[in-house]
Amino acid sequence: MRVVEKFVSINGEGVKAGEPAVFIRFQGCNLACTYCDTKWANEKNCPYTDETPAEIAEYVASTGITNVTLTGGEPLLQKDIRELITVLINNGNEVEIETNGAVDIEPFTGDPRPSFTMDYKLPGSGCEKGMIFTNFSHLTSRDTVKFVAGSHEDLVRAKEVIDMYDLTHRCHVYISPIFGSIEPVEIVEFITGNRMNGVRLQLQIHKVIWDPEKRGV
Ligand code: SF4
Repeated sequence: MRVVEKFVSINGEGVKAGEPAVFIRFQGCNLACTYCDTKWANEKNCPYTDETPAEIAEYVASTGITNVTLTGGEPLLQKDIRELITVLINNGNEVEIETNGAVDIEPFTGDPRPSFTMDYKLPGSGCEKGMIFTNFSHLTSRDTVKFVAGSHEDLVRAKEVIDMYDLTHRCHVYISPIFGSIEPVEIVEFITGNRMNGVRLQLQIHKVIWDPEKRGV
């Protein structure tokens, strides 16, 4: 498996935001979002270490942290990801997959099941056409759909998708700002003004605590 980073930090987003977590970041992505802040990890020539699921699980155990976030890039593109998920959960970890909405999650929903924080890519990302709508039907109350919005147009589209798939009754729903593109207050006003019950604003904690460009945190 192509590992580009592994480190202990706190979860920056999702239902476990603020909790300690061990992060495994994999190389490669099937999208190219305009605002991607991990583009370096998606480059074909990005240096990586080739590790087996057993080696990654050994590292996770050595950290003493039991929340594991598998991220990227797009972690579900890694050949042995199913095996890694199984090993980690069987070792007593809680596994969260950060996925981009452009990979079918159905093959990863069998037992033992991780939780998913799945993006829905809005128009400003330039990648909305890659979204797989059938993924919504596999989500449960353990999962999250995250909309990263950078404009009013993005917010309008987020509302449309949330309503169309009744997402607030299916899973957690977050809207986050594209750092530097939209003021969080605009999102607050949109959520409250449209009475979007069950939808939460989430700010990326890491960008507040550390330099927004800092890696490995
Ligand atoms: S899906 Fe995520 S990793 Fe891939 S290009 Fe978009 S923001 Fe970057």
